[in-house]
Amino acid sequence: MQKYSGFGLLKHALTHHENWQRVWHNPKPKPEGYDVIIVGGGGHGLATAYYLAKEHGITNVAVIEKGYLGGGNTARNTTIVRSNYLWDESAWLYEHSMKLWEGLAQDLNYNLMFSQRGVLNLGHTLQDMRDIERRVNANRLNGIDGEVLNAQQVQDIVPILDCSKTARYPVLGASWQPRGGTARHDAVAWGFARAADAMGVHLIQQTEVTGIRRENGAVTGVDTTAGFIAAPKVACVTAGNSGVMAKMVGMELPLESHPLQAMVSEPVKPILDTVVMSNHVHGYISQSDKGDLVIGAGIDSYLGYGQRGSFPVVEETMAAIVEMFPIFSRVRLNRTWGGIVDTCPDACPIISKTHIKGLYFNCGWGTGGFKATPGSGNVFAHTIAKDDPHPLAKPFNVDRFTSGHLIDEHGAAGVAH
Ligand SMILES: Cc1cc2nc3c(=O)[nH]c(=O)nc-3n(C[C@H](O)[C@H](O)[C@H](O)COP(=O)(O)OP(=O)(O)OC[C@H]3O[C@@H](n4cnc5c(N)ncnc54)[C@H](O)[C@@H]3O)c2cc1C
Repeated sequence: MQKYSGFGLLKHALTHHENWQRVWHNPKPKPEGYDVIIVGGGGHGLATAYYLAKEHGITNVAVIEKGYLGGGNTARNTTIVRSNYLWDESAWLYEHSMKLWEGLAQDLNYNLMFSQRGVLNLGHTLQDMRDIERRVNANRLNGIDGEVLNAQQVQDIVPILDCSKTARYPVLGASWQPRGGTARHDAVAWGFARAADAMGVHLIQQTEVTGIRRENGAVTGVDTTAGFIAAPKVACVTAGNSGVMAKMVGMELPLESHPLQAMVSEPVKPILDTVVMSNHVHGYISQSDKGDLVIGAGIDSYLGYGQRGSFPVVEETMAAIVEMFPIFSRVRLNRTWGGIVDTCPDACPIISKTHIKGLYFNCGWGTGGFKATPGSGNVFAHTIAKDDPHPLAKPFNVDRFTSGHLIDEHGAAGVAH
């Protein structure tokens, strides 16, 4: 694999950047099959492949993607990274991910534009503030950074935020996670893909999995638009399509697939150097390095697979942003788009073996799985390699919906992705 460096950039400038190596190969499926097939070439699937190869020495792996790598929710999200979830189980999982983020660009030798610019979750009511205090205290007990700020401290961090007492929902304070921030979503997929490919993983694009074959209660491989591909282990990491995958083996997962929209403004000069989220007014915003204001909505309430949403959600979200930031009222919106998110009843993911030997699911990340990309791949790779859940993944087994051990993260999830 070609090593990226500042020196390399200079060297390639001499040949007008025309001689860069291809970042990954474009292989045909092996006729003899693989040890592990990962269905879904989003960030989570690619991270799983990477950690399978890197940490468990399993390199005879194929990632099968029906479109192009990272073209699903990975390409469509608003890139917020944080780990300040309420319950121990999720805080540990997201903090595991945060720690991986902190060394990931070096690990992958790929610039992920990871920016720990801090994340504010605003409180507009006394109950919001009580919830914020509870969550920040719970986070600190778990060794996760967090502070409770008053309105003045919020105003000091974001001078352009309307913190006036006459606002419809005046800002009373916020939770503040300084280590939270953003990362370049595409780069995450590309970085994992490049590193996995270099260790021998096959990345097979434009190939849809249409069936999962089994014999005597065990997986034997997948049917695809390119024919049958054999493997004793199949791991589905297909986000909004996970319910469709489960149906292929007659399973029903407790998931709903909803459109979730985001939007960007025209690029403007640097004006917002942190992430601001409000569950109450219901919108969140950050500014990309290019200058766009990156704005996220809540889910469209109907089910769908269309990767687009309805106009009223865009309108409501814009209203929320202008309410918080009247200064943006004349900034023009450039683009809107949607992804299909797989939401679980307790707003937590499913990372799980199934009753079928060799079949695994990693899904249910809903509106907030981008931040978990490295952690999710890391614990899922362990679960597949050992055929035994990683300790951090154990609470997220699908059997929690029959045992009743739900982990209700609706408060920490909210609009706040
Ligand atoms: C608008 C929006 C904003 C968001 N904002 C945030 C945020 O700020 N922070 C955050 O943490 N999270 C956010 N999320 C959620 C986050 O994007 C997802 O949880 C995460 O990207 C999921 O990654 P993934 O790899 O599991 O899924 P995806 O990237 O969707 O990858 C799944 C892949 O599976 C492929 N696939 C599906 N079916 C098949 C099949 N049959 N055969 C082969 N391939 C198949 C798809 O084509 C797709 O590429 C947001 C999501 C959206 C839509």
